[in-house]
Amino acid sequence: MTQLDGRVALVSGGARGLGAAYVRALHGCGASVVIGDLLDEEGTALADELGERARFVHLDVTSESSWAVAVEAAVGLGGVDVLVNNAGIANTGRIERYDREKWDAVIAVNLTGTYLGVRAVVPVMKAARKGSIINISSVEGMRGDAGLHGYVASKFGVRGLTKSLAVELGADGIRVNSVHPGFVLTPMTERLDATLQRIPLGRHAVPDDVVGAVLFLAGDESAYVTGIELVVDGGMIA
Ligand code: NAD
Repeated sequence: MTQLDGRVALVSGGARGLGAAYVRALHGCGASVVIGDLLDEEGTALADELGERARFVHLDVTSESSWAVAVEAAVGLGGVDVLVNNAGIANTGRIERYDREKWDAVIAVNLTGTYLGVRAVVPVMKAARKGSIINISSVEGMRGDAGLHGYVASKFGVRGLTKSLAVELGADGIRVNSVHPGFVLTPMTERLDATLQRIPLGRHAVPDDVVGAVLFLAGDESAYVTGIELVVDGGMIA
């Protein structure tokens, strides 16, 4: 089992859904966790439930100053060993109805939010000469999909940003990888088309199906792994 005793992980969008599953798993492996999210009530409840080694901070990933507060909370717990850039939103529409507002919103949270998270933690990780950045992309960052234009573009962007950072930051001891979940049952996917025909394993994922990928990339088992796309999709893009 992954050992993360004495490490600190910061998880954006950690109050519910996949983010909360990553928080619970990282904490269960011994890490201290900072849960960053817009959802104060859910985030505070999760931090209270986990108790020692868990903090909630109100985080808007589109804001540089908000990231500074989250990083400060992590440094207060000992540093930032792991950043999981998980916060994300999705919206849909055929291109004629996919207006500028939708585009801007999804790019701001999913892509710019990831970029700002990296910028916020890199000075701390560089000073420590270690760190693992895990950017949550999607199976939609591996292939096109009708009606999900901004989401797909943002997730391809996250994948590209990840690769570029892996090349740049390797010499500083910082690893950067992306995780690409398939169709996972969470509040985000409640209203999306959930056909099983595209999933060879024959079922939708639950958040715990993706946790192992994040733990692997967070811990020392992946010490020589950087710049990869870890796809956890039940075979959707096989
Ligand atoms: P979710 O909607 O359940 O959770 C997303 C979390 O991000 C929420 O807690 C939300 O409050 C938070 N968030 C949204 N905007 C934010 C902002 N500006 N600042 C801080 N927090 C913000 O969604 P989920 O399904 O758990 O998705 C988590 C991540 O996994 C997303 O990046 C999503 O794109 C990705 N993903 C999900 C699936 C899936 O099938 N559910 C598949 C592939 C990738």
